[in-house]
Amino acid sequence: MLATMMNVPLLLSSILRHAETCHGDGEIVSATVEGGLHRYTYGALASRSRKLANALSRLGLKSGDRVGTLAWNGYRHLELYFGVGGSGLVCHTINPRLFREQIAYIIEHAGDSVLCFDLTFLPLVEGLAAELKNLKAVVVMTDEAHMPKSEALPGLLCYETLVAGEPDTFDWPVLDENTASGLCYTSGTTGEPKGVLYSHRSSVLHAMAIALPDVFDLSAATVVCPIVPMFHVNAWGLPFSVPMVGAKLVLPGPHLDGASLHALFESEGVTFTAGVPTVWLGLLDWMDAHGRKFSALKRVAIGGSAAPPAMFKRFHVQGVDVLHAWGMTETSPVGLAATLKSKHQALPPDRQLELLCKQGRPVFGMEFRIVDHEGREVPHDGKSFGAMLVRGPWVAQGYFNAPRHSAHADFPGWFNTDDVVTMDADGFVKIVDRTKDMVKSGGEWISSIELENIAMAHPAIKEAAIVARADERWGERPVLVAVLKPDATLTREDMRAHYESRTSKWCVPDDLVIVDELPHTATGKLSKKTIRRLIEPGS
Ligand code: ADP
Repeated sequence: MLATMMNVPLLLSSILRHAETCHGDGEIVSATVEGGLHRYTYGALASRSRKLANALSRLGLKSGDRVGTLAWNGYRHLELYFGVGGSGLVCHTINPRLFREQIAYIIEHAGDSVLCFDLTFLPLVEGLAAELKNLKAVVVMTDEAHMPKSEALPGLLCYETLVAGEPDTFDWPVLDENTASGLCYTSGTTGEPKGVLYSHRSSVLHAMAIALPDVFDLSAATVVCPIVPMFHVNAWGLPFSVPMVGAKLVLPGPHLDGASLHALFESEGVTFTAGVPTVWLGLLDWMDAHGRKFSALKRVAIGGSAAPPAMFKRFHVQGVDVLHAWGMTETSPVGLAATLKSKHQALPPDRQLELLCKQGRPVFGMEFRIVDHEGREVPHDGKSFGAMLVRGPWVAQGYFNAPRHSAHADFPGWFNTDDVVTMDADGFVKIVDRTKDMVKSGGEWISSIELENIAMAHPAIKEAAIVARADERWGERPVLVAVLKPDATLTREDMRAHYESRTSKWCVPDDLVIVDELPHTATGKLSKKTIRRLIEPGS
């Protein structure tokens, strides 16, 4: 028997309509590329998104067409999220940190009809001019006063001019909620970049889930500053979730250094922020060097790669709680978040920290299975490990315009994350490693994450990576590649002594390589592929 409830589709336009109606005067503050802060409200966002939707339809775009963006976290990018997706088009966020060839591949593969970009990326877009010839329009996200003259790109359009002439009325189409609304390519660390095509339904459900108290705990009283870029998995869904709850939204633009972030957090009273560990290293180092504190910040969500316990402690000293979370481009991204249950409240602080340092408990909507090599479920005892499979309404069941992928093939109905994990009886998942980053020594698996966390607790070490080096006797052995703090020194013997008191003898890295800088991927993670090359003999 069917129920008698309304079947109202879950659409991005419904978030925007709610934001305008219920908190139309709520603030959105953006640090701009042109300089200075831009301020407006959810009411203005809704109005300008309607104008943008009119402009896009005037450019001749039809339902399902892709609009590419190369842009920082800012208000115009937010208008594109809603104006493009809301009108039945697909907002394709492109990561400008990818290699030029990857960006060219992605634009071509996605079949973008229009490209919108921030001024910062003019040289990058000029370098792509040949690939953009067939696009309907290339739009600079700025005003007339800042429009560049470009010989390589003679027909550039100005975003503000495009929007200015349009009426403020637009009837958001009532779409099937499974209509595509967003497209984001994985960084291609494992093969060609693959396109994940989000739907209105997946984006709205994910936005509701991440606002929950045991996830990001967002409300109309929160002031949110997403540092995670809007070109990386929709800034973890915050641009949808924040307007939904009516929190003040603060967008950092291109200014991601410690001094700029601290100044923005202080001037806007940011209470919640989110980003990958690398960004926080920069901010914390700057704060230590300048003896600064946070006056409003209460909580920081960290994910994308493992947040080491040392980073938790540095935030705790600042009076800031850390929320460790796990996700992937294919999972919209949030799947796990580490918060304590009531029964954990009385535990001693070091036991609590141990739980909080895990990647977290499943967010409702996401189902998890952990399986061994034969596909058998491993016990949830916090020790047995296996491959993590996931499924849920915001998990990709395939890739855009691509043949079926092995991540979906081996376990029908599930997506294989390629992460090796343990789960305990309370549902806390701990990522042991990405399958390809584990070190296999004498038939035993060594977790690179665990050894990196130990390294990060050493006072001389600023950043650390563990990679495998081929070894005749053991197959592979771990090597520590580290960046030291200014004026610090570290010998192999110091390193060994530090590890020997903290891990089994056979896990202690064989070697220490000190470097000035560690390479990162386009999404801010340690690039293990490049680091492995650094330690190859003869390099
Ligand atoms: P890519 O690394 O290719 O850019 P994603 O950004 O989708 O792709 O990365 C997803 C991967 O990042 C996960 O499979 C996992 O290995 C890693 N990851 C994400 N969050 C965490 C976390 N909190 N701790 C450890 N690893 C994490």
